[in-house]
Amino acid sequence: MAKTSSSTRHLFITGGVVSSLGKGITAASLAFLLKRRGYRVSMQKLDPYLNVDPGTMSPYQHGEVYVTDDGTETDLDLGHYERFAEVECSHSSNFTSGRIYRNVIDRERRGDYLGQTIQVIPHVTEEIKASIRQLDQPDVDIAITEIGGTVGDIESQPFLEAIRQFRYESGAHRALVIHLTLVPYIRAAGEMKTKPSQQSVGILREIGIIPDMLICRCEREMEEEHFRKLALFCNVPRHLVFAEQDVANTIYEVPVELSRQKLDKHVLELLDCRPGSLRIDDWKEMIKRLLNPSGGEIEIALVGKYTSLRDAYKSIYEALDHGGAAHDRRVKVRPVEAEELTDLEQASELLKGCAGILIPGGFGDRGIEGKIIAAQYAREKLVPFLGICLGMQCAVIEFARHVCDLPQAHSDEFSNATPDPVISLMADQKQYTDKGGTMRLGAYPCELADQSLARTAYNQAEISERHRHRYEFNNHYRQLMSDRGMLFSGLSPDKQLVEIIEISSNPWFVACQFHPEFKSRPLQAHPLFKDFIAAAMKEHKRNA
Ligand code: GLN
Repeated sequence: MAKTSSSTRHLFITGGVVSSLGKGITAASLAFLLKRRGYRVSMQKLDPYLNVDPGTMSPYQHGEVYVTDDGTETDLDLGHYERFAEVECSHSSNFTSGRIYRNVIDRERRGDYLGQTIQVIPHVTEEIKASIRQLDQPDVDIAITEIGGTVGDIESQPFLEAIRQFRYESGAHRALVIHLTLVPYIRAAGEMKTKPSQQSVGILREIGIIPDMLICRCEREMEEEHFRKLALFCNVPRHLVFAEQDVANTIYEVPVELSRQKLDKHVLELLDCRPGSLRIDDWKEMIKRLLNPSGGEIEIALVGKYTSLRDAYKSIYEALDHGGAAHDRRVKVRPVEAEELTDLEQASELLKGCAGILIPGGFGDRGIEGKIIAAQYAREKLVPFLGICLGMQCAVIEFARHVCDLPQAHSDEFSNATPDPVISLMADQKQYTDKGGTMRLGAYPCELADQSLARTAYNQAEISERHRHRYEFNNHYRQLMSDRGMLFSGLSPDKQLVEIIEISSNPWFVACQFHPEFKSRPLQAHPLFKDFIAAAMKEHKRNA
């Protein structure tokens, strides 16, 4: 039997009954608790769908695409991993069936398997296990692998088979399976039902996996009878069945609730690791500030095109919360559908009372004119403004049209007839015809101008931020815009790429080509979000 040679122990999190149970938040919460007990934790997500990565998927299908420092386009759950547990994610942190199959097929073409018939078992399952073993590192004590999808899905089968083998090969105390399931409340019967969970564990058992622990998502409090029933029918000791009841206010309460039930302690016990002591006072303090901010509430307009879909802007919502908590304020987001902003009058109607305006990243021309109007409104009415990626590009187009007398200014992305492409395709993008994984992705350095809002916010001269775009500021217009009052406060070290712009005559108008939201953490709000909220607080006072 091939035993894993490293000392890394593995935890697998599977999900049953339905999707959207919050496996990512549960995995991230557990990672947070284990880290706070002194263990070095690494995380990854295995997604059963066939896309090679989520980079080409619509936010309607998949929510936000989270980008790591090394430029991997990943599932939004990795955002939870980085925010909760401050683990650093990379290309080893997200594998899809598409990526796994591509690797296998590439190898087959190379001749690595000469003579063999390539099959799901063993070739695909070996590739999955090799992906999991990428987390076996000398500096990783515990690796947590979340399996996307729901037990019973056709696409999940090779992943579950790979875990079964992995556990068998790992030996005692080295790999655990935690199954997250749903215990629904059936209103008509007035009862909570354990049967769906029993059946889901039944499916796992059919493929040879008996979970070590059960975590049950539930709307209402589970009673002792439910715990006992689940233990008995699922073959899991009673003390290893946990409830994860919906938290009313913030997802950051989940680890606190799970640790109250000693989930982390039991995990460490099963892994034959000493529990260490848990220190989470700062985290609890942060939750308190989020839930009961002493400074009241301010409202920020988020002008986007997936306004009914929080997941599409997941990291932005989180970063706004962090920025608010840093100032003891609650941030209320007013989602504004960009397409509804048809003129300035409409804008003043829909944006009235907002203490700040944020335009997030995006692709495609739907709603673009509305976003440009929102940027104009912010500039003219002196409302604090934060533009992100496409949000920066809209602010540049607006400034060109209305301040620099270039009424037809646009981005190459949306108009190939514009005489003034103030935003244009990046030079090194011209070589690509494929859409997947070809944008300017990941962390790049950026130098900040003295005496700029950005320099004040970061309080340092050089920063590193994550990117995901194909278009950029067109340097041909730099002098003109600078003459008319636009400050280019963040540039790439060779000064060729505009990374941050500001409008000096406004109290706080900052827009960046990168995505600051990916690096904001609950205990460490991102500097731009923190200062944006500070500016919004002043605006709120001005309006009061
Ligand atoms: N569509 C724009 C570009 O590709 C902006 C991308 C974004 O906002 N992430 O440059």
